[in-house]
Amino acid sequence: MLANLCQYYYSVYLFDLENDRGEAMWREDHADGSDIAPQDSLSAYYKKFVEEHVFHEDREKMLRAGSPKFLRHTLSAEQPVYDVDFRRICPDGHVGWVRSRFSVGEMEKGRVKSVIFANMDINEQKLKEMEEERQKKLYVESQNIIKGLSSFYHSVYYIDLQQETFQVFMQRSDIAKYLEESDNFRLLMKTYSSHLIYKDDQERFQHEFSAEEIRRRVSRGESIYATEYRRDYGGMYGWMRVHTIVAESRNGTPVKVILAAHNIEEEKKQKEQNQLALITAYEAAKTANEAKSSFLAQMSHDIRTPINAIVGMSAIAAAHLDSSERVTDCLSKINISSKHLLELVNEILDMSKIEKGKLELHEEHFQVSAFMSDITVIVQPSVSEKSLHISFDSSAVKHNDLIGDVGRIRQALLNIVTNAVKYTPANGGIKVRAEELPSRDSGRICLVFTVEDNGIGISKEFLSNIFLPFAREDNTEVRKVHGTGLGMPIAQGIVATMGGTIEAESRLGEGSKFTVTLFLRAAAQEAEERPACADDTKMVEWKSKTRLLLAEDNELNMEIATTILRESGLVVDCAENGKEAVDLFLKSSPGRYQAILMDVQMPIMDGYTATREIRGSGHPQAHDIPIIAVTANAFAEDVAKALRSGMNDHISKPINFENLKKLLQKYLA
Ligand code: ADP
Repeated sequence: MLANLCQYYYSVYLFDLENDRGEAMWREDHADGSDIAPQDSLSAYYKKFVEEHVFHEDREKMLRAGSPKFLRHTLSAEQPVYDVDFRRICPDGHVGWVRSRFSVGEMEKGRVKSVIFANMDINEQKLKEMEEERQKKLYVESQNIIKGLSSFYHSVYYIDLQQETFQVFMQRSDIAKYLEESDNFRLLMKTYSSHLIYKDDQERFQHEFSAEEIRRRVSRGESIYATEYRRDYGGMYGWMRVHTIVAESRNGTPVKVILAAHNIEEEKKQKEQNQLALITAYEAAKTANEAKSSFLAQMSHDIRTPINAIVGMSAIAAAHLDSSERVTDCLSKINISSKHLLELVNEILDMSKIEKGKLELHEEHFQVSAFMSDITVIVQPSVSEKSLHISFDSSAVKHNDLIGDVGRIRQALLNIVTNAVKYTPANGGIKVRAEELPSRDSGRICLVFTVEDNGIGISKEFLSNIFLPFAREDNTEVRKVHGTGLGMPIAQGIVATMGGTIEAESRLGEGSKFTVTLFLRAAAQEAEERPACADDTKMVEWKSKTRLLLAEDNELNMEIATTILRESGLVVDCAENGKEAVDLFLKSSPGRYQAILMDVQMPIMDGYTATREIRGSGHPQAHDIPIIAVTANAFAEDVAKALRSGMNDHISKPINFENLKKLLQKYLA
């Protein structure tokens, strides 16, 4: 038996468990070095063996495997052998793999009496096994990598550029069926091209994936690069990208590459969308800029038109002073043109405020019924002139007392109603209705105004432009009527600033309908007792010798103002600038002046400074004489500035003398 063992094992020991002794039975050329003293106990004997021959990292394992206790416990009639591998320190100092076999020597009544411990050199075999293990692990890992890549790439090939063969890592089933068993790279690319690539890209695809072209590009230093192709989807196309990655090169020449393809539809779509967004933004900016230029051009044209009329009519009047009929006619035309000019300037100011988002709203109580009758009164003259039938209905409004910027609401609605009047031929009909709809917002009332006419109507094309500044429909009926094209955009701007909407429906030749929806607060109950805006327009009677101080630097304006004020029964003293006004006031005996009209922009001293000097002076009337600002700047911030400087009120230029008289009446009462 020993001879048999010696064929395979370079050393064999006997462990006598009964007598607790170990002994070497055979060792190939004293393979395990000098013998160990046999008089030692088995444990000591084995321990010495381990210390001398076993590589330190494996010692613990070997001590456990060969301990008498472990052997008794492990070996039995059913399991007569037990193997364990360790690294051995060979007599020449190098480390090699050994397989130890512990096998039952003698047994008595199921009890192991002795164990044969034999060592076999398995270095070569073990290294091979370990290499195989490593390869197996590598394989599993690469499979995992490929699996990971497959969520991104739909095809992955490993190409041998020298053999012009390929190996599939991953492949679409629709390609696999055409290739059968072939590993020919050219065939692969040809198949791929003819079945997956859009026809216009096929030639380029085959060229770029020829072995020569890949070699050429890689030799240029591109060790990884991407190319994109259109995929064919039955005549339609989508996009895919192929990555070419060098896997192995020899002497600078690529020998193996990986080709990996994936779809880039989403990416392309995103890119196209971004591009589109950019173009849209650019177009919008361009359009806005063009709109601004055309706004300016249009504005100066529109301003010039009434000015031309004024200049021309003045010249005609001057040349015909002897004909009072002619002069009267010219004056009335000058008057109309001036009003148009003023209207235009006001509209332009409103438009620019709206466009800058600077429209300020001033909330106040108002009554829908009174509001509707205001509109009736205002449009009545032109309605009668054209023999139009107009009806106003606000019966469906439950909350008559509301809070909002009634001036601006009136402006918006008047723009719409006057259009209905302007663009409805004689004898036509107009319906204006105010309605209250159930509102989802519990704090607000939903108020809907509709203005319906059976006039000339609006073409479908123009309807989409109706809210653009200066837009007017290009037809003879519209051209006959005076207009600026600002009424609609202003109405829309006002309504939008209030958080409401405005809608236009129309049919050419049939009529138009405009719907304005506003959300307004209802006035609290107690507010209902308030008197509706008292608007007493009866002629004003002044107390005798009511004297005003008027500060105005412009001679012409001064002349107009003094003439009209004097003709209405007032006495007026004039100052050419703020300084002169302050001096006149300080010198005046108490009670001489009942009010001061103060221009704001004046040379030497402006109106604000003059007002502060007057208010700060020791004159008995310093604090209570009413000072009214007369200013060309009609913005809210100018009004605020006037009030801060100590003025009581404000009126804008050109002066509406009816309004001025009402204002004076309020302060002189
Ligand atoms: P305009 O000062 O020219 O009236 P708007 O901005 O108020 O300017 O209106 C713009 C254009 O819309 C008008 O020139 C006209 O072509 C058209 N339009 C507005 N309202 C009506 C209507 N009720 N019927 C027919 N056309 C209308």
